[in-house]
Amino acid sequence: MPARTDSFDLGRLRLTAGEGRRLELEATLDPLDYGGQTYEVTPPSVAVVLDISRMTGNGYALRLRFEAGLRGPCVRCLEPAQPAFAVDAREVDRPGGGDELSSPYVADDELDLHAWARDAFALALPAQVVCREDCAGLCAICGENLNAAGPEHAHEREPDPRWAKLSELNLE
Ligand SMILES: [Zn+2]
Ligand SMILES: [Zn+2]
Repeated sequence: MPARTDSFDLGRLRLTAGEGRRLELEATLDPLDYGGQTYEVTPPSVAVVLDISRMTGNGYALRLRFEAGLRGPCVRCLEPAQPAFAVDAREVDRPGGGDELSSPYVADDELDLHAWARDAFALALPAQVVCREDCAGLCAICGENLNAAGPEHAHEREPDPRWAKLSELNLE
């Protein structure tokens, strides 16, 4: 089991220009507020693969990959959902290379793995968290879960009780 790593000292690897290393680390992921709901990230401590290449000149090219899931309510049917997502993120940090070549997660050869994993995971999420892609949601009339009720779930047009009263008056 790799050690839990919230930040990683890239300089410690003492890579020479053009040299690379693949590391398996553990990153912690905090619960996420998303679309007004709080989602637990599963597992909260996730195994990540970090590829580090020392660039010619100076700086690092980095690639972070991992898979993690969310646990929380489906926005359509409100049942517990546990979708999983794959993350594949890249960063380049070249000191003196200008803003575009400066990674917000690298400072003085120290990689903020916790912040990068969190942001990369948030970017990998879809617009809505659903229990499954074709979740049918809740019936707009009775609130029943349409995934369980099936496609034949429908309502007869119930006569409005006010109209029933009117018809009792027998105006015709
Ligand atoms: Zn659903
Ligand atoms: Zn219904």
